[in-house]
Amino acid sequence: MKKIAFITGSSRGIGRAVTVRLAEEGYAVGINCLHSKALAEQLAEQLRAQGREAAAFQADVADRAAITAAIRAAEEALGGPVSLLVNNAGIAEQHLFQDVTDAFWRRIFSVNVDGAFHAIQAVLPAMLHEKAGCIVNISSIWGQRGASCEVAYSTTKAALIGLTRSLAMELAPSHIRVNCVAPGVINTDMVQVLGEETLADLARETPLGRLGTPEDIANAVAFLADERASFLTGQVLTADGGFIL
Ligand code: NAD
Repeated sequence: MKKIAFITGSSRGIGRAVTVRLAEEGYAVGINCLHSKALAEQLAEQLRAQGREAAAFQADVADRAAITAAIRAAEEALGGPVSLLVNNAGIAEQHLFQDVTDAFWRRIFSVNVDGAFHAIQAVLPAMLHEKAGCIVNISSIWGQRGASCEVAYSTTKAALIGLTRSLAMELAPSHIRVNCVAPGVINTDMVQVLGEETLADLARETPLGRLGTPEDIANAVAFLADERASFLTGQVLTADGGFIL
């Protein structure tokens, strides 16, 4: 089976770093963006200029038809079925629980949880047919531990852990591995809303003394996808510098 990876939400941040890392590992990569078509195309260009296979597709993971069409288009462009799916697209907002609106609750679930549901169902038929494949979901330490003012986000990330464990059991007989990375505080656009001072405090509170980088998470994803992790399924790999020890 040709090594073809599809990474959701990969025009920037963790998804972008995962894409670059997987391309280095010899994967043909399908890049997905919600709005930033130019950034996604630029990344694909950059990788192609380095001799890698890459193509970019715009789609909202919350929209089943759109993300399924994007995955089909990636398979067409890259020459085979997706062998590695990374469910990275995600959104986060801080709210007191009593201020969470129905609309926000529905939207965060539709992106963070339904997005993975849709993308997995789009790649599964081919993986089941091949009796091979790998799925990596990007959860969060806030799916493992409570987070004040992030109840909705934390609930979606805990749901991804449940999905990972149960799906891993269901797909193990078909030799499809499903794992999860739970990043700690990673220095991307997503956490800039916290402000410099809070980010500096969080770095100090991290036993390893720094914030994570997108590349730290890309390394964890590449490890789970690798043959050397072939006996690992249903696992949550926490990559947080020791933050929740
Ligand atoms: P980011 O905001 O830089 O990247 C998220 C990406 O997902 C963006 O490119 C965005 O456009 C895309 N996206 C959002 N909604 C989408 C949709 N509906 N369809 C398609 N793409 C969509 O943030 P990041 O820090 O790179 O986060 C990546 C993942 O890592 C997220 O799932 C996030 O929850 C998780 N995570 C991040 C941290 C952190 O500290 N940064 C910690 C734990 C987990």
